[in-house]
Amino acid sequence: MNYKIALIRGDGIGPEIVDETVKIIDRVGEKFGHAFEYVEVLLGGCATDAVGKSYPDGTAQRCKSCDAVLLGAVGGPKWGSDRPAQERPETALLAIRKDLGLYANLRPAALRPALADACPLKKETAEKGIDLLMVRELTGGIYFGKRDRYQTEDRGVECTDLMAYSEKEIERIGRRAFEMARLRRKKVTSVDKANVLETSRLWRSVMNRLAEEYADVEYEDVLVDNCAMQLVRDPGQFDVVVTENMFGDILSDEASMITGSIGLLPSASMGDGAPALYEPIHGSAPDIAGQDRANPIATILSAAMMFRYSFKLAAEADAIEAAVDKALADGWRTADIARAGESVVGTKRMGEVIRDNIWVQLEGI
Ligand code: NAD
Repeated sequence: MNYKIALIRGDGIGPEIVDETVKIIDRVGEKFGHAFEYVEVLLGGCATDAVGKSYPDGTAQRCKSCDAVLLGAVGGPKWGSDRPAQERPETALLAIRKDLGLYANLRPAALRPALADACPLKKETAEKGIDLLMVRELTGGIYFGKRDRYQTEDRGVECTDLMAYSEKEIERIGRRAFEMARLRRKKVTSVDKANVLETSRLWRSVMNRLAEEYADVEYEDVLVDNCAMQLVRDPGQFDVVVTENMFGDILSDEASMITGSIGLLPSASMGDGAPALYEPIHGSAPDIAGQDRANPIATILSAAMMFRYSFKLAAEADAIEAAVDKALADGWRTADIARAGESVVGTKRMGEVIRDNIWVQLEGI
């Protein structure tokens, strides 16, 4: 099969980690008999430098002509908040998510066996294993609601941020979570604040209705404060966790921390129909850009998600994940995941080792 992938290399370490990932995608293609065509898409600070806008005209169309989008990272101090909005990389990220209708953000947080020591939780908690999928609503709620700032007569300046959700928005993210659970351990935890918020009460009623429809999937409601606590007390209890935009923003960072390094965690953002976007959860790490020090694993695992979810090629996704696990089990470490005294390799060498593992593994089949 032929697949067309939009490549957004971006800024900082983005080009380095995307380069290594493309080589791995090509190796998988060689071994499994697929061909990949790449469409370079300029977005972020590099686009501002090249054409004066972080989100050049036609960006969404170029992405929509592809089967999936792979993004490194964008941003950096050079394009800070003193720049006009159209020159700031964050503007481009929000725009591409909106234009591709990417309302579901999927972040797996799994403790890779060889890195169990990196888990900051108690040893007995880590030993139970962590393998959860955070499903965050990405285009609604308080981040997209009406906001206001005004002067009052007696209380100084006052501000409001409106949190709004419709049944339709809740239902589509809920369905995504239940469908994902069917591909995993068949459990959904829906997180809300239904004891206080009206949006959460609507959220809960829609999720409960879906739970009846997906009767083969175990279901529970958990309040967001309890969920934050349970994530550090006993994360092994969770399979798929679904929640609204702001709760998801906070909880997904918490979930990623308990699994160790930020350099290991992939993500996918999906809508209905248009290509999904795959990217590491970390940023452009300007402090180590261009030094061959970035960990490429989060981007490589994002590509594995692309094979699994966009191309429906589970064996190829498994091969990439197994190649990463083997590299880690064999003791290969980039600086961010190395313990004191362990020897360290750079971005390119880590990419090469993982690539060779895909080769070795498939030779054995
Ligand atoms: P960051 O994730 O870029 O870096 C935080 C720390 O983690 C740094 O010390 C960095 O060196 C390290 N780190 C990150 N990724 C790593 C990797 N793959 N390997 C090794 N170490 C890694 O977060 P930040 O410093 O807050 O943000 C830097 C820039 O990235 C900002 O401009 C921010 O807006 C942008 N950003 C972009 C995205 C995105 O493109 N989706 C996401 C978050 C932040």
